[in-house]
Amino acid sequence: MSTSKQSKGFIQLEWVCPNCNSRNPGPKKTCESCGAPQPENVQFYAPAEAKLIQDENVARTAKAGADIHCGFCGTRNPATATVCSQCGGDLKEGKARQAGREMQREAPVVEVKCTNCGEMNPSTRRMCAKCGAPLPRAAGESPVMQKNAGGGADAAPSVTKRKFPTWAIVGGVVACLAVICIGAYMLFAPSKTVTATVSEVYWQTSVPVQEVRAVDYSNEEGSPPADAYNVSCRDDVEQVCEQKTIDQGNGYAEVVEECHDETTQYCSYTVDEWTTIQTYTLEGYDLFPVYSEPSLFSGQRLGEATLTLDVHFTSGGEEYLYHPDSAAEYQAFSPGSTWTLHLNALGGVVSVE
Ligand SMILES: [Zn+2]
Ligand SMILES: [Zn+2]
Ligand SMILES: [Zn+2]
Repeated sequence: MSTSKQSKGFIQLEWVCPNCNSRNPGPKKTCESCGAPQPENVQFYAPAEAKLIQDENVARTAKAGADIHCGFCGTRNPATATVCSQCGGDLKEGKARQAGREMQREAPVVEVKCTNCGEMNPSTRRMCAKCGAPLPRAAGESPVMQKNAGGGADAAPSVTKRKFPTWAIVGGVVACLAVICIGAYMLFAPSKTVTATVSEVYWQTSVPVQEVRAVDYSNEEGSPPADAYNVSCRDDVEQVCEQKTIDQGNGYAEVVEECHDETTQYCSYTVDEWTTIQTYTLEGYDLFPVYSEPSLFSGQRLGEATLTLDVHFTSGGEEYLYHPDSAAEYQAFSPGSTWTLHLNALGGVVSVE
């Protein structure tokens, strides 16, 4: 397995001022709206519409690494600085910002209500289009990928080719249960009762005769069974890539594409298996099903026999079909006898008395 990492570039993040709640570009060290300094523990978020940075100078700044907060005055300095721009203090005493977390690549574009004038604005805007007031951040967005919260940049990636959001899985399960419940109700809940007469009965039995035969399998995924022979396998190598957005700790995030090879084995082989070579079927229009009793040659066996039972009813010109569970139940339905049928919403027979 070979793994490769490739940088796709950098995006600019944003942060929310805890003082006035307005959003600021990631690299800005003081709030553009109220002038408050960016606090040390501020969270960076991916913005809605995060374009890769084209400007080389900006990209170089983004690449430099996590900012350092001065140990003496708390001012945020770039990773390249050695002394604080504010107080001149040695930044060796400072504290590098948290970096390396995996982030969301882009926040979804939603409508944000201006707290000043009530105008709805797309979340791609930082200022209200109507009154110019700073817009708050859309609520409910987690800045960090759930699976890798707190992990380093080179934490082992867990690759998922397809991911469904949790709400989709829960919604899907609920929808499935609803369909099953409605279906079960339609099929099993009696909604109507009719009196009907047996017009015809029919049975069919099948007895399979089996023999061990060589069965060929081709291009089956995975390992061949232990008793397989004439085995030939090949490996299919597929490159699987995923993009990760990694917090740089300086208001930018790097978009990294990680690729690795995934190998799948496909095999062709032969297995000796019990195989049905002939099926002996009997049928009749009476109440006494019988099974064929074929004579077996050496090396043969009988497979599992099957029994089909049909009871046809008529009632007021309508026909109904019922399948008894056992031959014993079936034998009670003498043609011409009268029964009470419980029907479901679709007109199928639920039970017979
Ligand atoms: Zn502010
Ligand atoms: Zn300082
Ligand atoms: Zn406004």
